[in-house]
Amino acid sequence: MNKLYFLLLYFPTTLFAQSTYLLRPDRVFDGETMHEGWVVRVKDDKIEAAGPASSVPATGAEVVDLKGTTLTPGLIEGHSHLLLHPYNETTWDDQVLKEARSLRVARATVHAQKTLLAGFTTVRDLGTEGADYDDVGLKQAINKGIIPGPRMIVVTRALIATGSYGPKGFSPDIDVPQGAEEADGHDALIQAVRRQIGKGADAIKIYADYRWGLMAEARPTYTIDEIKLIVEVAKSSGRAVVAHAGTAEGMRRAILGGCETIEHGDAGTPEIFALMKQHGTALCPTLAAGDATSQYRGWKKGQEPEPERIKQKRITFKQSLDAGVTVCAGGDVGVFSHGDNARELVMMVEYGMKPIDVLRSATSINADVFHLADRGRIRPGLLADLVAVEGDPSKTITDLQRVRTVLKGGIFYKR
Ligand SMILES: [Zn+2]
Repeated sequence: MNKLYFLLLYFPTTLFAQSTYLLRPDRVFDGETMHEGWVVRVKDDKIEAAGPASSVPATGAEVVDLKGTTLTPGLIEGHSHLLLHPYNETTWDDQVLKEARSLRVARATVHAQKTLLAGFTTVRDLGTEGADYDDVGLKQAINKGIIPGPRMIVVTRALIATGSYGPKGFSPDIDVPQGAEEADGHDALIQAVRRQIGKGADAIKIYADYRWGLMAEARPTYTIDEIKLIVEVAKSSGRAVVAHAGTAEGMRRAILGGCETIEHGDAGTPEIFALMKQHGTALCPTLAAGDATSQYRGWKKGQEPEPERIKQKRITFKQSLDAGVTVCAGGDVGVFSHGDNARELVMMVEYGMKPIDVLRSATSINADVFHLADRGRIRPGLLADLVAVEGDPSKTITDLQRVRTVLKGGIFYKR
């Protein structure tokens, strides 16, 4: 059966589930713990019951046999860019400067579908990278049932300090459109945060450091007072601030400024990770993005020794684990292929996490960190966002790449 036929067959014609199912996998990961022999009962768009097969009645339900699988909560991608595609296809600069917005949105609809069918029923999409507020419309198209895709948390354009972002490398005499919104200082920052929220941002993303101007090295951008101001304004509307930060000083300012998650954190130190632990700041390590870009730059993975950057990332990731930092699961997917989101989860195990902890990160921990109380666990009353994968990913993490069934809101998107 080819994929198109598959989708035509299973793309639901109604937005709202109105069925009762009893799902019978080999085992259920409830977001925290693995349970052999459990079943899950779904009614309409919610989980109605979960527990040992003997304790959950099948009365009135369509029984769905999922023998050989593990059922997990719908996976949550912590760091995506649905409006980007892999940089080895088109460089980031060229995507921002040369691709029509219509082209980017058309691609994004396909990216959304691939993400959902890979078992990721929610994404935190961290910036349109030059495509203005197009994530807002994309999210609406998914929520209205026009296109299949994951539930989205969006941040719209993201905020950058003037002069600090890209595309760069052009004559200083011309102004080149940037991949995010430049705003600095008291009034302009307040306005920019409020404007993005008004246009649909669920959270605010800032770049706390970046490779500035002609310097190749990343340096902090916003002052700590600017970050505190952004956080205060966002927080008063009930929204979190997430920070791109790779340098120790950028991370320190983001932590002390009140950002809730730090994206990348490549040059973190034991002191910085201790500070994250102390302030409850979560780390979204994006291991797969560094792995992908290193290969795009010529590294032959598996044949050549790991580049310095990768060796360093292994060290700092380990330091964050040792410090007890809350680790989100988010790969910066878009840098690499949408639908290949599980690559990050596989790498988290390769870099030292236990598979069961990675499963927790991608479900209950991401839900907690992103304030999503209605998902991330298999519990009565929560959304019936569920994924069945072949085998047992708590033993073999790559089983997450063998998705058999996907439900979102009680609707089968893959069966
Ligand atoms: Zn990113």
